Amino acid sequence: MAEKVDIVIVGAGFAGLRALYTFRSMGYSTIVLERDEAIGGVWNFNRYPGARCDVESYDYSYRFSHELEQEWRWSERYATQPEILRYINHVADRFDLRRDIELSTLVSEARYDSETGRWRVQAQDGRAWDAQYVVLALGQLSTPKDTTYPGQERFEGEIIYSAKWPRDREIDFSGKRVAIIGTGSSGVQMTPVIAEQAAHLAVFQRTANYSIPAANAPVSDREDAEVKAHYRERREQARNSPSGLGFVPDSRSAREVPEEEREEAYERAWNRLGFGFALAFKDILLDEASNATASDFIRRKIAEQVEDPVLRDKLTPKGFPFGTRRPSVDSGYFRTFNRPNVELVDISETPIESFTPTGIRTSAAEYAFDIVIYATGFDAFTGSLLKPEIVGKDGVTLQDKWSAGPVSHLGIAVNGFPNLFIIVGPGSPSLLSNVLLSSEEQIDWLAEMFEHARANDIQEIEATADAEREWVAHVNERAKETLYLKTPSYYMGAEMPGKPRVFMPYSGGVRYYRRILEKTAAEGYSGFALRRVREKTAI
Ligand code: NAP
Repeated sequence: MAEKVDIVIVGAGFAGLRALYTFRSMGYSTIVLERDEAIGGVWNFNRYPGARCDVESYDYSYRFSHELEQEWRWSERYATQPEILRYINHVADRFDLRRDIELSTLVSEARYDSETGRWRVQAQDGRAWDAQYVVLALGQLSTPKDTTYPGQERFEGEIIYSAKWPRDREIDFSGKRVAIIGTGSSGVQMTPVIAEQAAHLAVFQRTANYSIPAANAPVSDREDAEVKAHYRERREQARNSPSGLGFVPDSRSAREVPEEEREEAYERAWNRLGFGFALAFKDILLDEASNATASDFIRRKIAEQVEDPVLRDKLTPKGFPFGTRRPSVDSGYFRTFNRPNVELVDISETPIESFTPTGIRTSAAEYAFDIVIYATGFDAFTGSLLKPEIVGKDGVTLQDKWSAGPVSHLGIAVNGFPNLFIIVGPGSPSLLSNVLLSSEEQIDWLAEMFEHARANDIQEIEATADAEREWVAHVNERAKETLYLKTPSYYMGAEMPGKPRVFMPYSGGVRYYRRILEKTAAEGYSGFALRRVREKTAI
């Protein structure tokens, strides 16, 4: 027997909890199904040393409750993983969310019944739910890559994946020989912290990437009071910025600005903005010559931090424009390589051949390790969405539908899959934005659409095929205006062998995207077929 509810939400991370709060307070019976034994999504899994958010704490927090905004006190400009997990658990308690969350519940299948206009959602353990709407809040970076190298099973030390960090014990690095494979944000964040503890640390780098200093610091009482006194303005500024981070770019082209003035602007951005450096001028991510001014500046800054000339060269990113692969925001990453106990292994020159019982062998040398950490990233954007068997109209699965890459209307809904909605999915600003802000925008918009359906006795909401085609074309058009397509990256499926090469996020910006959502709603949800299931008539 399936339990009947109005809405099933899959995933108890930030988006899932916000969706639960909102839909439940509108009177919908709502349940959240979460595969893990605890809430928190990625923040529950990525517990590696040094893990923290690279969006400022005051922006990477919920806006839906003014009381919550005022009560919660962030301790640092960029919150650590434990603090973020405390926050999300506080929210769950503060708003009594846990009673509608089923933990340790892995959704294996969701199947649409066109006759009733309802979904049957099946968990792996046999339980089932019968829901009008299914909302997938599965995250974009929640399926880690299971990277392996030959001989791994013979390694006598410990192997740890950064996104499956052990929860039951502290990992003690003192006196240990440690390897980190991967130099994305995860590797970059953990390197300085582990270097301080380990006897020896080797960082295996395949591609050097750009990184901007976090300029992290404790939040003073004065700063806290200042933000809280103007929180509404801050939220509005974030909503009206391209990335949802509140930065509004200099409206000039980087090329138009005299060199001295440009350098000063970059220096200010370097010292304060972190991720926002990419928005120092309006066209850094749009124009190659403008980007080159930013890329050159960052390369010089990296070089200043690294003493050894050979290392300096290896750590300097080359051959792709800044920002076209997701840059990191770091706390002392490059300077860590000046330490005597830290070495860089350039595996683009000397690839890893295999593990040995005592460590790793590359084409040039053998290294001994006690602990090897994989920080090799995720099956981004679609990895988690394609895990359950999602069966829409006429028995078509989402895997079939997306076999050549994800398609959707607004990144929210898929033709052939009525009443199924995706939060911060491919085709929406997603990882090119502050994902928490983008989640809240989409959930508020969905809430209004559900209200519209309820008020008009509509039971089935489906993105039309035409709207889907137009949206995919629009996403691609906007991507072509940018430099993103110049570089293979997880933005376009290059992180997984065999994955379709499709540009995944919407690059038109948070503000522009919101205007499109608003226009769609104002037009009575244009691009969606709204139907009464009992009569099967379009409205
Ligand atoms: P990532 O950015 O995808 O980086 C993966 C790294 O592993 C890259 O250096 C990659 O090299 C390397 N790699 C992949 N497969 C490999 C293999 N088989 N052998 C050797 N090296 C391999 O992953 P991530 O660092 O986990 O970060 C993912 C994303 O999560 C970030 O971009 C960010 O959006 C998010 N994140 C955010 C935060 C934060 O908020 N502060 C923190 C961590 C992560 P190539 O570059 O050559 O492919």
